[in-house]
Amino acid sequence: MKQYDYVIVGSGIAGLYTALLAKKQGSVLIITKGSIDDCNTKYAQGGIAAAIGKNDSPETHFKDTIAAGDGLCNIEAVRILVNEAPVRIADLVDFGVPFDTVDGEISLTLEAAHSAPRILHAGGDATGEHMEVTLSKRSRSSKIQMLEDYLATEIMVEKGIVKGVKALDCRTGSIEQFDCRYLILATGGAGQLYKFNTNSDVATGDGVTLAFNAGAEIIDMEFFQFHPTTLHLPGVTPFLISEAVRGEGGVLRNVDGQRFMPKYAPEADLAPRDVVARSIVYEAKRTGSDRAFLDVTHLPPYVITTRFPHIYRFCLDHGLDITKGPIPVAPAAHYMMGGIKTNSWGETNIAGLFAVGETACAGVHGANRLASNSLLEAVVFGKRIITRTTKGTKAEASSNSTQGEEQRHSLSQRQVAETVPPPSHSVLQELLWDKVGIIRHKEGLTEAADVLASWQKSLPKPTDRPSYELNNLVVTGRLVTEAALLREESRGAHFRSDFPRTLPQWQRHIILAR
Ligand SMILES: Cc1cc2nc3c(=O)[nH]c(=O)nc-3n(C[C@H](O)[C@H](O)[C@H](O)COP(=O)(O)OP(=O)(O)OC[C@H]3O[C@@H](n4cnc5c(N)ncnc54)[C@H](O)[C@@H]3O)c2cc1C
Repeated sequence: MKQYDYVIVGSGIAGLYTALLAKKQGSVLIITKGSIDDCNTKYAQGGIAAAIGKNDSPETHFKDTIAAGDGLCNIEAVRILVNEAPVRIADLVDFGVPFDTVDGEISLTLEAAHSAPRILHAGGDATGEHMEVTLSKRSRSSKIQMLEDYLATEIMVEKGIVKGVKALDCRTGSIEQFDCRYLILATGGAGQLYKFNTNSDVATGDGVTLAFNAGAEIIDMEFFQFHPTTLHLPGVTPFLISEAVRGEGGVLRNVDGQRFMPKYAPEADLAPRDVVARSIVYEAKRTGSDRAFLDVTHLPPYVITTRFPHIYRFCLDHGLDITKGPIPVAPAAHYMMGGIKTNSWGETNIAGLFAVGETACAGVHGANRLASNSLLEAVVFGKRIITRTTKGTKAEASSNSTQGEEQRHSLSQRQVAETVPPPSHSVLQELLWDKVGIIRHKEGLTEAADVLASWQKSLPKPTDRPSYELNNLVVTGRLVTEAALLREESRGAHFRSDFPRTLPQWQRHIILAR
């Protein structure tokens, strides 16, 4: 059995950045279930937010983040996020992330619901790829030990303190145990819950399930962000058409070529993601279609090809010249706002267990994430975890500056449904998309909750990566569904057609724990 100071699970921005800092403090092992760059990070297009522009300030970034969070942010965590952003950006520049520049200055763009241009990008719309490549090269040159094709399967806890983690060697099928002082989960999101999603195959909610099974608190799971604009072509996996395209002037039109966002929201095409996603669903239904069209043909072609080279090329490869014709788009599941509950130091309720990145929920996104705050969250809280662990292990009381009280629940006991389809990834994705998707209601949610509970009881013991991932999706899917059933209102990304209003009595958080 091997003993490390830090074991970090995951090799996206959260895992790699945290590992690079941890390396200066002790022995580090990264475990990752695929190759180093199998992650969501490399797909990030728009960029990373930081108030570094002349006419911007952390205060404005703070206000925008709080407004997007719709009453459920953690004030302290958001302050930390926006105040520490500029210095973390400087770290990324030092690590070699090649942010785009204009006349020697970092170039900043605007995205929906940001009140100033504050999005740094790299390679135009290839920000995540540049970050992943830069950080993985750094990790290799820093000789950080890394095990690829190792899937974390169980967190070892003794007397309330983390001991280590068990992992499946996906090549041999054997299980190994790695002991550590600090276990850091950086396992990303769970977009694979949904039939239409923008996420990498690795986004199967593993960290949330591992932490939940170990006794950690899971919070805000009902808030799943659906990105309004993904390329909608038959037989093509949804491909993200970044928010920045609308930031640069792109407009949405219906199947009849008419603009429709001004009639749904005062901010029109730059309204928050959930509003735009629902508006597309309503407008498509109204016009008897299954999509909308994002039009950039009025922009100078060079703006499109230089600002969005990746999107331009991808569409061209699929027979669509976006400088000449509109882009067919539809919403898809994109980002998990909830996750493993942490305080502002990345600590969970289990001593020695930390979480960072999309799998964690420090409270910066509330009920809805402001675009480009997630890459930022990973670096800000990754740094804080290392600061915390170098100051000693004694847990600090969790901060109490959250908007809204927290209410603890356990997963409800459900009648095992008699006729359920056999569990499989595609059936689960259909179920979640249809019943726990953009527009939800009690009947659909109850049906999904019953089916998921039946599956949880009937699934055989996992033995390989696909079976572990299916188990994790079932547990994570239950957490999303049960929280969505409990929240009898609409807020942020969570919309209930049977409770369409935001209710003051629901300004509270749902925590699920064993
Ligand atoms: C298409 C797309 C575009 C986006 N654009 C932006 C953007 O412009 N700006 C922005 O801020 N955010 C954006 N996001 C969100 C952002 O990319 C992610 O939230 C962020 O990259 C998450 O980083 P992470 O390190 O937490 O997770 P990931 O990058 O997903 O990495 C997770 C890692 O954990 C590993 N892992 C998972 N489970 C296990 C296990 N059981 N055992 C071992 N390893 C495991 C995975 O293999 C992977 O290495 C975008 C997301 C997508 C999908």
